[in-house]
Amino acid sequence: MKRLLPFWVGCLAAATGAAAVLSPSEFLGFPVGADRKIADYRQIVSYFRALDAASPRVQVQDLGKTTLGEDLIMAVISSEQNLQNARRLKDIARRLADPRGLSDADAEALVRDGRVVLLVTCNIHSTEIGASQMAMEWAHALATAEDAETKRRLDNVVLLLVPSLNPDGQVMETEWYRKNLGTKFEGSRMPWLYHHYVGHDNNRDWFMLTQKETRAMSRVLYHEWFPQVFLDEHQMGSTGPRIFVPPYADPADPDIHPLVWREVNLIGANMAFRLEQAGKSGVIYAYSYDAYWPGGTKNTAWWKNVSGLLTEVASVRFASPIHLPPGELAGGRKGLIEYGVQTNFPNPWPGGWWRLRDIMDYERIASDALLESCADRREDFLRDMIARSRAAISAAGAREAYRIPADQPDRPSAVQLARLMDEHNVEVFTAANGDFWIPLAQPYGKFVREMFETQRYPEVKVVAGKEIVRPYDVSSWSLPLMMGVSVERASLPEGLARYRPIASPSAAPSGVAFALAPGSPENAKVVNAALRAKGGTVSIARAALSHGGRQWPAGTVFLDAEGGRAAAPVLPDSAVEWVPVPSVPGSLERLRAPRVALYKPWVASMDEGWTRWVLEQYGFEPKSLDNKTVRAGRLAEKFDAIVLPDVSKEVIATGKPRTEEGEMRYFAEFPPEYAGGLEKEGAKALKDFVEAGGTLVAFDSSSDYVIEQFNIPVRNVLFRAKSDEFSSAGSLVRIRVEPGHPVTYGLPEEVAAFLNDSIAFQSALGGAELERWVLAAYPDSPRDVLLSGWIRGEDRLARRAAAVAVTHGKGRIVLFGFRPQHRAQTHATFPFVFNALYWSTAKTAVSQP
Ligand SMILES: [Zn+2]
Repeated sequence: MKRLLPFWVGCLAAATGAAAVLSPSEFLGFPVGADRKIADYRQIVSYFRALDAASPRVQVQDLGKTTLGEDLIMAVISSEQNLQNARRLKDIARRLADPRGLSDADAEALVRDGRVVLLVTCNIHSTEIGASQMAMEWAHALATAEDAETKRRLDNVVLLLVPSLNPDGQVMETEWYRKNLGTKFEGSRMPWLYHHYVGHDNNRDWFMLTQKETRAMSRVLYHEWFPQVFLDEHQMGSTGPRIFVPPYADPADPDIHPLVWREVNLIGANMAFRLEQAGKSGVIYAYSYDAYWPGGTKNTAWWKNVSGLLTEVASVRFASPIHLPPGELAGGRKGLIEYGVQTNFPNPWPGGWWRLRDIMDYERIASDALLESCADRREDFLRDMIARSRAAISAAGAREAYRIPADQPDRPSAVQLARLMDEHNVEVFTAANGDFWIPLAQPYGKFVREMFETQRYPEVKVVAGKEIVRPYDVSSWSLPLMMGVSVERASLPEGLARYRPIASPSAAPSGVAFALAPGSPENAKVVNAALRAKGGTVSIARAALSHGGRQWPAGTVFLDAEGGRAAAPVLPDSAVEWVPVPSVPGSLERLRAPRVALYKPWVASMDEGWTRWVLEQYGFEPKSLDNKTVRAGRLAEKFDAIVLPDVSKEVIATGKPRTEEGEMRYFAEFPPEYAGGLEKEGAKALKDFVEAGGTLVAFDSSSDYVIEQFNIPVRNVLFRAKSDEFSSAGSLVRIRVEPGHPVTYGLPEEVAAFLNDSIAFQSALGGAELERWVLAAYPDSPRDVLLSGWIRGEDRLARRAAAVAVTHGKGRIVLFGFRPQHRAQTHATFPFVFNALYWSTAKTAVSQP
């Protein structure tokens, strides 16, 4: 869209008779890329809009609003003719990505007429600031160059350039940096997450698509532009190589088409070549970053036949230069154990000053090399896209499919899974009986299989007899297990209709009262909306009962008509099963909305952010609790439940990270208002809270804090386990659920739990003053523990408790040894959390039946 130029730019253009295309430094009035100079995101957007107005080679596309309301923009940069022809070029890209029905002659015609669509995303991690600045300079150079080579590149390629994939964080980080410039906190980390909900995990959301930014970019990738090549530009630590370019390190997933890797390697080699020619040392490949895990930006794209690349450049202190003596340079990671000459690292950087300008120069050379490769190989890359898509389609038989049966314990989550696949532009069909069907013979069929099967991490060793290469991130992502949805491989029937998600709120069901049997996390949206409605009543059955001619299990929630009317608009579809009943049974416990607080440490915790997002989505309206508020006490007056997300006990207690024996003890301090942890007063305030009747819920490693602080008959049997004795790299493990407890209402007998840390509980008989329950336990046989991923020492889990509850004073403590809400992916275990929160409002801790 064309916008008005800033007034003075317009004057300049009028005066010279030609559109003035100012450089970023001219436009912003300071030297972009100089030490300690940073353009914030709003300045960057204003620059791109001015470029759009001044140059026929640049068009800004608005992708919607971010989480905190910034404009998420993407610059489309190409020759004037290509931009005029954009609709046709998009259509070609779409047909190359889905070549079903194309004859070879048609395909060749598309290859002839098509352009490489290249997506480059910058600054998804907001402290990795260089690329957001480089993007302006790169766009300016492409908009103004008159040399034949640049014009050739722009004739052959449509570049989609996203200057920041996390604008909110870019703004937060530049504000934080500017505020602390010239103080001892210059370049320090922020005490809060740089994405409002998910922080650094914003590139761990690319198959679950929970956040606005992820979803917007997913639409660009898989619904609109269908790029063949995608580069995501990052920064890494300061003391190793200067830049990582592909090839990636092992392991590689065998399902990804080898032409993806061949293209990625060819482009990476050209990046390394151009960097070396320009005299840039410290270029490495086959280092650290693997080709196996599908959760990241460009990673997910590999399973959708896209050549996804990563660059990682050594960081400075945000925009402040650093000096590194040679003795501080180090390897120590996969692909570079000792810092020195290797074939993948032929010219180590010798040390010295390292500045923002260096980062931008390395990134710019790599980005130009990428553009060059795409222009050089235009026809090859377009033909390869067809080859990869055709191979994906023919990798499965025409009728091979997944069936998601309509009849399952948690139908609403099955609907969520179908909706998610549809959002990925996977073709989903529905049968008359409500089953969903997903054929595998489709362009994104490999992605479906990757997401639906279980994982077994390959135990790759760099040296025979030595330790395996550990997973880069988690080792399991099986959506049916994580979402508690049963799926099966079956033969695709005839007569199916294409699935279309229902976008509008469901109508209020008619009836005088409704029952919701427990079992789906989606129920919480209905229940919480009804609880907050004026005049509605919500009751919960603490024991099984017969009502309206039907049996209802313990945990069934009954709403009156008013509650039903209030709840209907929160649901985008009617998958939640609320059954009309003649009345709300009398004599049931009235449920009230739990007043939930969520602990928020100043050492920003992504698990805290994800927990906050999940609780908000499901209507719990959590209040954030910082250290000072906890220490001030009187918590029981304000809250029914306090949730401690996965945070180490050291950080909770003192605000300082744990240091291992022999590790350097230095850590970067925060400004005083953010220093420290709960300290003694905070621990006492939490104890007072529970003793007065509050419910304390701890996830994962924060359980260690609770066990240490409270006198309860529970211990973590893996507390001192070394990593060669026990290790779980984000695996899904089987747990057996104890039925009948308020925290386990509606949960199936067995469920997959996401286990990342070394926690397994052993409880014991306490004194007569308390009760204790094992809510879920690991199987008796170690062989039955692992469902998906990679684990070592599963015998240490066998028969141990995975979740426990105890009474303490008038209150309760619930400890989860796993992450029941991991990255908003583990829907199957959300009900543990939601039930625990509803339990916090129960007057008495119900005895085990
Ligand atoms: Zn990064």
